[in-house]
Amino acid sequence: MARDTKRDPKKKGEKREKRPMRKKKCKFCLDRVTHIDYKDERRVRRFMTDRGKITPRRITGTCAKHQRMLAAAVKRARLIALVPYVREYYR
Ligand SMILES: [Zn+2]
Repeated sequence: MARDTKRDPKKKGEKREKRPMRKKKCKFCLDRVTHIDYKDERRVRRFMTDRGKITPRRITGTCAKHQRMLAAAVKRARLIALVPYVREYYR
């Protein structure tokens, strides 16, 4: 399986054509946030999916430092039931 991951050299050039790489900035760095308040529900929720998962860094553009702080904040917020572990959804 892993051996087959080598790309066809013909396809290499057209790989990134559709999506221009726009560099995402860490929103916390822009605000000069030094610590993320887990009681700030609205801010924490913005970095969660509709199912209650923490949005990955590659999507939000959050830097490693702030992503770690965010993850800790989300987990604390979950523990005191500010945000859900799992959002209810249609069965
Ligand atoms: Zn940051």
